[in-house]
Parts: sequence; C-alpha cells; structure tokens
Amino acid sequence: MRVLVTGATGYIGSHTVVELLERGHDVIGVDDFSASVPSVQGTIEQISGQPMTLVQLDLRHRDGVDALIGSVQPDALIHFAGRKFVGESVSDPIQYYGRNVTASINLAEACQRHGVDQIIFSSSCTVYGEATILPVSEANPIMPVSPYGRSKAMTESVLSDLAAAWDDLSVLALRYFNPIGAHPAGILGEVPIGEPNNLLPYVMQVARGERPELSVFGDDYPTPDGTCIRDYVHVVDIAKAHAIALDYTTRYRGFEAMNLGTGVGRSVLEVIRAARDVTARPIPYRIVERRPGDAARVYAQAKRASYHLDWEADPDLHRMIADHWRFERSLSSERRLAS
Ligand code: UDP
Repeated sequence: MRVLVTGATGYIGSHTVVELLERGHDVIGVDDFSASVPSVQGTIEQISGQPMTLVQLDLRHRDGVDALIGSVQPDALIHFAGRKFVGESVSDPIQYYGRNVTASINLAEACQRHGVDQIIFSSSCTVYGEATILPVSEANPIMPVSPYGRSKAMTESVLSDLAAAWDDLSVLALRYFNPIGAHPAGILGEVPIGEPNNLLPYVMQVARGERPELSVFGDDYPTPDGTCIRDYVHVVDIAKAHAIALDYTTRYRGFEAMNLGTGVGRSVLEVIRAARDVTARPIPYRIVERRPGDAARVYAQAKRASYHLDWEADPDLHRMIADHWRFERSLSSERRLAS
C-alpha cells in the first residue's frame, strides 16, 4: 500500500515506518521537525533496508495539507503528528488545539476531498481521564482532564463523525498506554527535547549520570508501594499494531477505537528496580510532591486489539528497558545537543 505517515520522524512514527517498509509498503512521511530531526530518515532506511520519501510540512496549513494529499494520493493515512505533554498542554492549550486538532481537521478534510478512505489515528489512554474502572477498556467513559487529552478526544470525535457521514471511510483510533523502549537495532529511539517529562527517559538520563537523581512524584497513592501504576508497552509492539491495523482498515468500515497496552501495571519503584537491574547503575531517587493530574493506577484491557488485530504486547519490562538503554548509550553527544 501507499501510506502517508505524519510525524514520521517522531518516536512512534519512526518505529512504525520501519515496520511498514519491512512489510513492503511504500511510505511517504511528513514532519515539521519541531520535535524530531530529518536525519531519522537515514536511520529508518538503514534498519529497514528500504527507501522512504520525507516531506517537511506544518499540518496547521490547510492548503499545504490539501496539496500534499492531492499529490501523494495515498491508500491510507497514519496520523501521529502532534504534541503529547499534559503539563505543556495546560500552559499552552492553543498550541495543542492547533497542532493536534486543527491539523487533524485539515487532514480529515483533505482525505475526504481526495478519497483517502483509511485512517489510523494516534490516540492515547489520556482520553479516559481519571479511570475509575480497571483495567481500562474501550467501554470506559471518555472524560479527559487536560487540554492534551481533550485534543485527542476531540480528534476522535471529528473522525468518528466523518466516518458516520461517509460510508466508505474506515477509521481506527489506537489508544496507547505508556510507550517505552527503542528499536533493538540500538540506533532508533526517542530523543527527549530538554528535560524529559516521561519517566523512562528521565530514568535513563539518571543512569547515564546526566542528571543527579530522579524525582518520584508521590509515594502516598493507594497502591501497594504508594507510587503510581502505569502500563508500559514496547514501542516496537505499538509500531507493529499500526502495520497490522492497515489490514483491518482495509476490511472494515466505520470508526473503531482500540487500546494498546500489555494489561500489566507497574509502579514507579518497580520501573526503577528494573532499570537498576538492566543498567547496573545506582539510579538515585527522591520522593517529592505528587505531580498534579497524575492518576494512581492506569492499565489497559487490550482484548479488542487482541481479538480484531491478533495483536499482543510482550509485557517483559526488562526487555523494554534493555532496548531503551541500548539506544541511550549509542546516542552521540551531537545528537543530544541537536535536540
Ligand atoms: N514520574 C515520576 N518522575 C518523573 C516522571 C514521571 O515519578 O520524573 C511518574 C509519574 O508520576 C507517573 C509515571 O511516572 O506516575 C509515568 O509518568 P509519565 O509522564 O512517563 O507518563 P504518564 O502516565 O503521566 O503519561
């Protein structure tokens, strides 16, 4: 298939492009390089042994999006591009609604105009907000509690409404839990910009000695060790789900949402222990105040993806961290500075 991938040089986008190229798809990637670097293209091509096309575009520009989709005429769109930090979305909501919602509307409109009738959308478990029913299934209410979560929920609504109005359209929203890890080749992974927001990138930088210690945001949650529980899932498993999902969107019509997680919850302290095992580094930490907006426990029920996509994620946390660590250690200082 001819697949247009937005956010193609980002963390999950780049891993997905590798999977698509390895399966023989023709990939046209687009990115504005606001959170990634163009050289990722070379890394993707090196791992997959296949060429891809890469275009620079800010998806908030409606005419540019229309021209791109009109000229590429893809069979399917996989839409990753967007911002993903809860805290940043609270302080800069307009950026989130612009980059996440306006961009998606521009894409949806262009898909409709040019007859692109398969869309896979990068969504998040953040759409569920403070999940009260565990594990979190797709039947949980959509009640996002941040501009970031709302930007994902709004985009799902836009795509779902479009699928209701346009019989031929197939939309699959994939709701990720906590993607971590890196490609086992050791040369592709996430390069955080500035101080990392997410747990594992922070833990890795402490392990490397770049930061003195990790702040653990609260140990008084109602969980066995008092720290928050999340469902960490290997980025390559997430990437594979997208490649498989192309078969699903070819066969089915309408809007569907599926969780992508392992179903296993891990506490912050469990992650630190596993990272100490893998890296053989001390990884000092200090318990600090809770981070506003953090839910105590979030882990997935991913039966729908298992049933429809025949997809399951490997819950081996040590393997995820080992892959992440391999990439971290391969990162050149220039690459770090470039980010
Ligand atoms: N966390 C932490 N210290 C950090 C970053 C994260 O203790 O420096 C905790 C955070 O409170 C949450 C978990 O690690 O319980 C995962 O956080 P992350 O930001 O990676 O993902 P989220 O689930 O918030 O999207």
